[in-house]
Amino acid sequence: MTGLNSSCGACKFLRRRCTNECIFAPYFSYEHATTHFSAVHKVFGASNVSKLLSCLPVLERTDAAITVAYEALARMHDPVYGCVSHIFSLQQQIACLMEEIEVIENQMANRAVDICNNPYLFTQSNIDQSVPILDSEIAAVDQISEIYLDSGIIERLLQELDQD
Ligand SMILES: [Zn+2]
Repeated sequence: MTGLNSSCGACKFLRRRCTNECIFAPYFSYEHATTHFSAVHKVFGASNVSKLLSCLPVLERTDAAITVAYEALARMHDPVYGCVSHIFSLQQQIACLMEEIEVIENQMANRAVDICNNPYLFTQSNIDQSVPILDSEIAAVDQISEIYLDSGIIERLLQELDQD
């Protein structure tokens, strides 16, 4: 139960009184919980999710509830593929970014070999010319790494699903 007079999102959706023993209350008491639980109920059924949560150790229930809500929202958005289409899209992005990283790493390795094979490149004027190119390559690798490692990607996907 979220407060003296407030029910969790699941109980609001199910139009029932939320009690201290409510299995959903710890995991469906946030702003859009009622909407999310509506999708959970349509896709999995409230009773099945209740049984699922009851069977799990308490420490694993939060992850399970988030996963069930995410999968339900994805299934509402894409009834055929559900979250698989998102996973496939993310895998494609990763593959493209890995290819870009490989290309840039090869360019950097070739440049390093060029510098080793051509000592005249170490003269100050040539170093001055080559540094901006290396910096831009390093910046590109950093940029791709940031995109790849961006931990907000899941939150953004959830927001996208909410908006549909
Ligand atoms: Zn409740």
